[in-house]
Amino acid sequence: MFDKEIMWQSVSEAARVGIAGHIRPDGDCIGSCLAMYNYITENYGCSVTVYIEELPEKYGFLAGSDSIDLSFKDTGNFDVFFALDCGDEERLGKAAKFMKKAVHSYCIDHHKTNTGYAHENLIVHDAAATAEVLYDLMDPARISKNVAECLYLGIVHDTGVFKHSNTTKHTMETAGALLTYGVSSARIIDGTFYEKTYLQNQILGRCLMESILCMDGKVIISSLDRKVQMLYGLVSSDTDGVIDQLRETKGVEVAILLKEMNPRVWRVSMRSQEEVNVATICSKFGGGGHIRAAGCMLNGSVHDVINTLTREIEMQLGPHTPGGIEN
Ligand code: 5GP
Ligand code: MN
Repeated sequence: MFDKEIMWQSVSEAARVGIAGHIRPDGDCIGSCLAMYNYITENYGCSVTVYIEELPEKYGFLAGSDSIDLSFKDTGNFDVFFALDCGDEERLGKAAKFMKKAVHSYCIDHHKTNTGYAHENLIVHDAAATAEVLYDLMDPARISKNVAECLYLGIVHDTGVFKHSNTTKHTMETAGALLTYGVSSARIIDGTFYEKTYLQNQILGRCLMESILCMDGKVIISSLDRKVQMLYGLVSSDTDGVIDQLRETKGVEVAILLKEMNPRVWRVSMRSQEEVNVATICSKFGGGGHIRAAGCMLNGSVHDVINTLTREIEMQLGPHTPGGIEN
């Protein structure tokens, strides 16, 4: 049974604490990991290591970002290890081995498909972000502006700036409370969510131009094969926001973005509006996520992948009138 007092007690008794999030980290993952890093460093006497796979430059202003271990160096066993915002053990990537060897491991998350792979697990399905869950675990009197900034950023990113359907009264109240620590909301929202690099805008444009509409306009799909990714030298954060823009297309229920990671191996991102449960679909293929935002990997040609996914969507939405792919 998860008990927050016991969790903090184990941190206070630990000499070494480790923290990691998921591979291809997003804003909530980075914000949550750095919030926990700063909170423990500022309030407890232990040494803390935070592992994150990559740190897009726009997050470099967050406190603790220079201390991130991007190389996943094995420095010996941890007394306490936190897996944050990570729906399954595999997605911890190179940090999975650190968690397995830790004396106490804690998984704190909000993914519906999380089955609880740590010693103690706190999975809050209706929280918009892991950062929202973390705020409830922390003592408000011991939260600094640095910690508040990281938490606020996590909430901003996972709610798409408070617009996704996961945004609740509690989410807004948490964000409101965080503002009282002096967080610069505009800097975080404009500087890390809306601002795009020239390359990101080029890729967005390309994905929109080459998108296809199918299933009577209810599904929109865009794909980036290996050749295109290599041509532009893309890293995972270069496609941030593309799927959200695809989903905003009028009449669309499901948006799909496919990225070829290895020959005929596709990384699938799915978003839905209000009917299709994309977590169920992605779980079927070994992935997971939330009802309205999920991902998985699929093998085959781009057409195989599209057929597999549209079949699943059809099973939820019911058959569409024939007509095939529209451009
Ligand atoms: P994205 O499309 O942004 O990569 O992921 C959407 C959501 O689904 C995120 O919350 C992400 O953590 C989760 N997700 C994406 N891919 C996977 C996966 O392969 N497994 C699991 N468990 N969750 C995933
Ligand atoms: Mn999250």
